[in-house]
Amino acid sequence: MSGKMFERIALIGIGLIGSSISHASRRAGLAGSIVGSARTPATVETAMRLGLIEQGFVSPAEAVEGADLVILCTPVGLCGPIAKEISRSLKPGAILTDVGSVKASIVRDVAPHVPKGVHFVAGHPIAGTEQSGPEAGFAELFDGRWCILTPEADTDGKAVEKLQSFWEALGSKVEVMTPEHHDLVLAITSHVPHLIAYNIVNTAAHLEKVTDSEVIKFSAGGFRDFTRIAASDPTMWRDVFLNNKDAVLDMLGRFSEDLSTLQRAIRFGDGDTLHEMFTDARAIRREVIQAGQDTATADFGRGAVRKVTERTETKAKTET
Ligand code: NAP
Repeated sequence: MSGKMFERIALIGIGLIGSSISHASRRAGLAGSIVGSARTPATVETAMRLGLIEQGFVSPAEAVEGADLVILCTPVGLCGPIAKEISRSLKPGAILTDVGSVKASIVRDVAPHVPKGVHFVAGHPIAGTEQSGPEAGFAELFDGRWCILTPEADTDGKAVEKLQSFWEALGSKVEVMTPEHHDLVLAITSHVPHLIAYNIVNTAAHLEKVTDSEVIKFSAGGFRDFTRIAASDPTMWRDVFLNNKDAVLDMLGRFSEDLSTLQRAIRFGDGDTLHEMFTDARAIRREVIQAGQDTATADFGRGAVRKVTERTETKAKTET
């Protein structure tokens, strides 16, 4: 026994989130050992080379053997099938959790495969970047960010508390809510904004009277900040929209109504309505900054990404 919070952590999926969990766990000394599995041998090899895991597997079932904490860090749509695959290999007493950006469908798809004596507590760290893969992770990703846990009513309270302590030790603040409420909140704070970004970038790309090179050249007028969000992983986001359909459609309905109000105000020269709506929006930005969820510098999270780039560049320099 190592006396650590967990003897053995198994990461199923070692991309941005899985690798960041590894970095932050090591920073806080939370695990006796960290093992992992990915879809491709190349990712497993990279994760080994970066020291993210001590042992790597392509089979998730082999990876979870003997682990007292198993974290599913794959795209949302794979959580159910992987839960089925690892079910018989999970250690009695282990905590099984995930980091998926949608919660109700994961609880629906994973819970039926969780054996008696294993504690399943679904989770979602509200932290990320547009980067993917094992090299994208960094220890500070979760610092000061919220992690939402969505246990079921009959989930063991001690397992929930232990997982909460784990996320706090990774740097997060933790809130507990139902999976359905999570999906509603995230539909407006994350999912619809990503859809808008994907859409505006595609609209700009298909204009006839404005060339692509002009769009790129003059992008600092606002467009470039949408391109950052729209650079997010297509597989991850496809799964988010397929799995949070109702809440996203609900929020999109409201969004379209408000967009129509703006459209009418522009058409009829109603400056008061425009000014009022823009003033309300500006106040929300101030609240986001006051809540510590961004800084007033206009870098839109690029500081965190820059840190990784700088680290990678320094590493490359030391290696050459
Ligand atoms: P990512 O960087 O693309 O990594 C995904 C990982 O899953 C890769 O290591 C991939 O392996 C692995 N994988 C795919 N299929 C697998 C399988 N069948 N068995 C085992 N591993 C498999 O993705 P991410 O950004 O870390 O996102 C992971 C999860 O976190 C998603 O559910 C997402 O909703 C959630 N999340 C993401 C963010 C964000 O901003 N990115 C924020 C919060 C939560 P290969 O490399 O071999 O393909």
